Amino acid sequence: MSLTVLMNAGPWLSVPPPGYGGIENVIATLVPELRRLGVRVVLASVESSTLPVDEKISVFPDGQFHALQRPYNQVCGVSQAHLGGVVRALHSRDDIDLVHDHVEAVGLATMAAMGPAGPPVLHTLHWDLAKHPELYGNLDGGDRVRVNGVSASQLARAPQALRDHSVGHVHLSTPLAVDADRRPRVDKGDYMIILGRINPGKGQDVGARLAQQAGFPLVLAGPVGPYHRPEDLAAAGDEARQNPDVRFFYDHVAPHVDGDLVRWVGTVAGQERDDLLAGARASLFPLRWEEPGGTAVVESLALGTPVVSTARGCLPELIEHGRTGLLTTDEEELGDLVIAAGLLDPDECRREAATRFTPAVMAEKYVGLYERVRTLAGAGRL
Ligand code: UDP
Repeated sequence: MSLTVLMNAGPWLSVPPPGYGGIENVIATLVPELRRLGVRVVLASVESSTLPVDEKISVFPDGQFHALQRPYNQVCGVSQAHLGGVVRALHSRDDIDLVHDHVEAVGLATMAAMGPAGPPVLHTLHWDLAKHPELYGNLDGGDRVRVNGVSASQLARAPQALRDHSVGHVHLSTPLAVDADRRPRVDKGDYMIILGRINPGKGQDVGARLAQQAGFPLVLAGPVGPYHRPEDLAAAGDEARQNPDVRFFYDHVAPHVDGDLVRWVGTVAGQERDDLLAGARASLFPLRWEEPGGTAVVESLALGTPVVSTARGCLPELIEHGRTGLLTTDEEELGDLVIAAGLLDPDECRREAATRFTPAVMAEKYVGLYERVRTLAGAGRL
């Protein structure tokens, strides 16, 4: 197949990202598999991206993540400068068969505004969109512009304008799933884990309270707002409370964190993260939002850790109740389920990840969608 895709990663972080970076991680997982399938990839990102690709285009030398703290018009200015570079590139060449865009609503609107002369576009939705219909109000671009979700539930809840342009969903995958069957087994420790940003939607307050009530050890891993280590948060003093996630942590989570039964260890990365996740009896998701994609859920399965969660968002699509995890609609029941999860077989979780959530599976599905988007746009066969 000779297909050239312009992969628009945006200007915020390099690819792969230096640490935090969900969208950039998805792109870093997807692109090598696409190239293995014969797709040429032109990466629109920042110059400091190190992901091997066929060609790079960029406006900024390195990631502009720091600019996200600035006033809104300056944030838009960075987006527009990056997208201006992408549009100039698209106008000046005719070898791009499709744009795979990941730059929130702004990227989609910009690609749609190119009009009928622009290439077909697939835009991947990464957010929980039900709360942000206004962002996608003016979607246009006719048959040329399509969207995909990262789960069926995310799409079902998306604004009508997006559903009208949808070509389906592709679940997120993790490189950890590739060798899920060959990875050395880690002995399970006597603790549960919640891996993720500390945030009301992720429900660390519920998990920590239940851990104290039921007496099970719980590790909370993840940043609180911009603070990655407990000592950084402590040093930041009262000013840090301007951040809503910091306020949530102090008001609702910290009262249950005793440093013994319930511990907050800050952001974990690399091997430390994998070992901590693999060693847990269960990975807990006391969700209070509709989780759109759930990378940490898929990572838990790949590392042989059953998932215990409220049945919200994409969780029922990712977890088979009674085999790879336990789901409930009643969050008070999570404490009991965490104990029962010890009876589930870690190998079932690994097998599930190795079958459904590998980068190769994700790339094959995307190639299928690229073909569909081109057909719907009336583009010729490649
Ligand atoms: N993560 C991490 N270290 C942490 C907390 C989270 O590496 O301390 C990673 C986690 O492994 C996952 C990503 O951050 O890859 C979070 O993605 P997810 O889709 O679970 O949640 P989001 O933050 O995008 O809602």
